[in-house]
Amino acid sequence: MIKNNKTDKIVKFLDCYIPVKTCNFRCNYCYITQNKWWGEKLPKFKYSPEHIAKALSKKRMGGTCLVNMCGGGETMLPPEIVDITRCLLEEGHYVMIVTNGTISKRFDEILSLDKNLLKHLFFKFSFQYLELKRTNLMKIFFDNVRKVKESPASFTVELTTVDELIPHIDDIKKTCMRELGALCHLTIARDETKPSIPRLSNLTEEQAREVWGQFDSAMFDFKLPLFEKKRKEFCYAGKWSYCVDFGTGNMIQCYGCGLVQNIFEDLESPIKSCPVGKHCPNPHCWNNHAFLCFGDIPGFTAPRFSEIRDRICKDGSHWLKPEFMNIFNQRLDENNVHFTEKEIDKIERKLNQKPFKYYRYLVLRLLTFGKLKQKYTKKIGKME
Ligand code: SF4
Ligand code: SF4
Repeated sequence: MIKNNKTDKIVKFLDCYIPVKTCNFRCNYCYITQNKWWGEKLPKFKYSPEHIAKALSKKRMGGTCLVNMCGGGETMLPPEIVDITRCLLEEGHYVMIVTNGTISKRFDEILSLDKNLLKHLFFKFSFQYLELKRTNLMKIFFDNVRKVKESPASFTVELTTVDELIPHIDDIKKTCMRELGALCHLTIARDETKPSIPRLSNLTEEQAREVWGQFDSAMFDFKLPLFEKKRKEFCYAGKWSYCVDFGTGNMIQCYGCGLVQNIFEDLESPIKSCPVGKHCPNPHCWNNHAFLCFGDIPGFTAPRFSEIRDRICKDGSHWLKPEFMNIFNQRLDENNVHFTEKEIDKIERKLNQKPFKYYRYLVLRLLTFGKLKQKYTKKIGKME
């Protein structure tokens, strides 16, 4: 475990959807490509960045939050992302941006923010090797990584392990060592067209471990055996973590769950506590590297998020700066009060009495996978 440096404590993890459904890339494995959702223009945000930050005020959320922002397409395409980031940082939260790393103008705008704000900012660079080659943007990508590295912000670089990349593994490793001084981390592509959301690969788990193990990625090592394994433990998603749509303000407990409340409409309404408990509606916890590493299931053995995001470069530098080392070493189950056994029993009894409220997405997923899913997902917002 990496040593803590500061005293800020994270009480909630918010996985936030930026309502952009377009991208300058066309990755084959992308769920937008899989669902044929391309072609939409940049969104018009209904709520201002100031309003969004107010809705997520520390006072209302019960303390400092870790706010992850990810678009349906490329997160950094909408110009509003700069002010949304600034306002959330000014509110005192820690912010993560998921990006394909090629929108240089937006990096320059964000990196010109106050240095103290930038210390609370983290970029997750998705290393889209094939698209970077096709579009001749490899240099731009690594230039932007370097800009972040030289700033007070933190970052990670992550490659999605699709089978079409296997013939390129040697070049990917060489490129990473040359440009980053360390190998990228690895994640797993999922097949969004199937209700069980399986791994998008023809390799068995064992073969995948053999092929991709050479990257020595703690992220991949943790995710792989948990993929396609349904979680049945008591999960605090809906209390310690939420998914929020920044287009509508709709807040749900986790992917596939029912609406908890709209947090943008009435800024005075308290945030509802609505834990998922043992009723996770998803076939498996595909973003377990976040939810489980941050402790949504107390007692679940998982590495600290710092271990799956950081790398030490050849020059001895870390991808994570001290502020994010501290934050990514924390777990929500260590920073929050737990329910007693009696309270858990009561929550479970209630959940068992109202299954459809909590399972409506699951029912729709099973019965109407396809067009209706798209319609419904658009309505509640795509949260991943
Ligand atoms: S960069 Fe991201 S959003 Fe764009 S096509 Fe690739 S996976 Fe999809
Ligand atoms: S997907 Fe994971 S974090 Fe979300 S409710 Fe299920 S177990 Fe909890």
